[in-house]
Amino acid sequence: MAVFNHISFDEHEQIVFCQDKESGLKAIIAIHNTNLGPAVGGCRMWNYESDDEALNDVLRLSRGMTYKNALAGLTMGGGKSVIIADPKLKDREALFRAFGRCIDQLGGKYYSAEDVGVSTTDIMIAHQETPYMAGLEGKSGDPSPFTALGTYLGIKAAAKHRLGVDSLKGLKISVQGVGHVGYYLCRHLHEEGVELIVTDIHQASLDKVANEFGAIVVAPQDIYHQDVDIYAPCALGATVNDTTIPLLKASIVAGCANNQLAEDRHGEKLKALGILYAPDYVINAGGIINVSFEKDYDATLSTKKVEEIYHTLMSIFTQADEQDRTTASVADEMARTIIEAAK
Ligand code: NAD
Repeated sequence: MAVFNHISFDEHEQIVFCQDKESGLKAIIAIHNTNLGPAVGGCRMWNYESDDEALNDVLRLSRGMTYKNALAGLTMGGGKSVIIADPKLKDREALFRAFGRCIDQLGGKYYSAEDVGVSTTDIMIAHQETPYMAGLEGKSGDPSPFTALGTYLGIKAAAKHRLGVDSLKGLKISVQGVGHVGYYLCRHLHEEGVELIVTDIHQASLDKVANEFGAIVVAPQDIYHQDVDIYAPCALGATVNDTTIPLLKASIVAGCANNQLAEDRHGEKLKALGILYAPDYVINAGGIINVSFEKDYDATLSTKKVEEIYHTLMSIFTQADEQDRTTASVADEMARTIIEAAK
């Protein structure tokens, strides 16, 4: 397994492999860049098929956090962690305590929080071993509703730019993954009169959005070719790829999932087809923005900052049109300028 020559290695500052025999913890922490401040980014718990798959995920996700935090205007660097384990594991206390001890050894260079497969309860367990955890109960808490708010506003920006509409009323939107963020996103969209088409691999989550929001449920493999205005990827990454792009009928791809494009060139492919792509790390920054208010938590201030996502995306869409470039490359360049200036 290559590390420094890994395809997703991008001058990461530090990569830590953690193992704790007693609890069974196997984790990787990747600190991508700390120019703007200590690295902050969530912890993902997933049944990775190989160590290399986990390493690839944490390298890509941590880089994304550097760019996300920079474009959101936060004084935080980018990092991420992954735990290689079944996210449905029942007895989690020893594992998350061991994880907390690993984080603690980094002495505040990296702060962790929740991500896929990890809950606020897990974060509170790890917090018993280290102060370097964020998204704590009683403080900023669950970031998902804020990620959903930012994603909803980002979808509105995309609809305004691509379809020329101020309201989403009457639009059809497919949502892939109705977990923590997807659920709240569906609620916003339903309240604005959107026709929802949803999928997930977890039946109870689907039943909830079908019952509460009248969403139409389709099988996971059928989500791509739905006749919708907007496709919102809200599950795992790399769902925009060579296989799925030709199936899309939507003219906008805008959702909360991290690393939506399997490769950068898929951004070019979307552009060639006239499909507007809302860069993932810009539209899904609501949660980390909320976490950044952790110290003296103020939900009103946090919400105001999350609302800026609408304008950041508008500026990216406009520049991409003017310069005939992909939205992803415009966002990357904007983020890199901020990161370099902070050196
Ligand atoms: P989650 O685990 O609560 O939800 C993900 C959902 O996707 C689950 O319900 C899962 O069953 C479903 N899913 C998994 N594979 C699927 C498939 N093949 N087809 C359909 N559904 C599938 O996670 P979340 O916190 O809601 O995060 C969703 C995405 O948003 C992730 O990519 C995450 O990294 C990203 N994100 C989350 C936050 C946050 O605040 N939670 C912030 C930024 C980005």
